[in-house]
Amino acid sequence: MLDYDLHCHSRVSDGTLTPTELVARAAERGVKVLALTDHDDVAGLAEAAQAAAQHGIQLINGVEISVSWRKHTVHIVGLHIDPANPALAEGLRSIRRGRMHRAELMAESLARSGIGGVLDGALRYASNPEMIGRTHFARYMVEAGHCKDVRSVFNRYLVKGKPGYVSHEWAALEDALTWIRAAGGIAVLAHPGRYTAGRKPMGRTTLLELLQEFVSLGGKGIEVVSGSHTPPQFAEFARYAKEFDLLCSCGSDFHGPEESYRDLGRLPDFPLECVPVWTEWEKATA
Ligand code: AMP
Ligand code: MN
Ligand code: MN
Ligand code: MN
Repeated sequence: MLDYDLHCHSRVSDGTLTPTELVARAAERGVKVLALTDHDDVAGLAEAAQAAAQHGIQLINGVEISVSWRKHTVHIVGLHIDPANPALAEGLRSIRRGRMHRAELMAESLARSGIGGVLDGALRYASNPEMIGRTHFARYMVEAGHCKDVRSVFNRYLVKGKPGYVSHEWAALEDALTWIRAAGGIAVLAHPGRYTAGRKPMGRTTLLELLQEFVSLGGKGIEVVSGSHTPPQFAEFARYAKEFDLLCSCGSDFHGPEESYRDLGRLPDFPLECVPVWTEWEKATA
């Protein structure tokens, strides 16, 4: 088992635990090196660092940036970033500015389908209104009895083609990679196995083009062992890592005890050929 978990969320974005609770849970479950990677925000990192020091584990400063690439939404994780870097901070702020507007459009669209009052409800689940996202809508819609769980709300209402889905222009791939580089971080393509084209997985040709562009813009890593990948996908993305000379990352993508596929710190080992992303910062401090 790996004792690195380099992808998870706190209440600062769409997780359910505070940074302190999240770090405590990770430490309890045997994680030695944890990256907090909230969506489009770094506001939880200071609190997480304090908790990590108390528990004697290492915290890696991280972020997960929402990106629009062609017609797809993809996520880029920045690891070992300087959260105070002005270019990164301003870039993330620009993404957050768009979230409330999208939320209003989502609420209007759901209202037209007969589901009213969801924006106020969803906002109750967001610790920061700027970070309002689909998960907060889903939690409220479960509370209001529209579906039995968050997953069903996504499937019925919040994915492409459903009444609550509103397409949105996130950051450009090039900008996200520029901000991460400016902040001294390592850019990692998050959960490549999760990207879709309509209802189908993103095709191989498109994924190869994405990887080519990602690498040419300075991307350095790819998530191989992810809470949202199946074991055959670990092997598949280890092959892509080798082909594109990318470092391999691993993370649970934990959002909360009730909602996640995988808990913190429960990640199987990498396939043998993988070069772990932490060789990059561990050689720098060795
Ligand atoms: P947003 O950035 O507001 O569009 O929300 C994206 C977040 O929604 C992801 O980070 C996941 O936490 C969650 N999510 C996306 N798709 C699903 C799904 N099918 N089931 C459950 N959660 C999902
Ligand atoms: Mn999320
Ligand atoms: Mn993601
Ligand atoms: Mn995530």
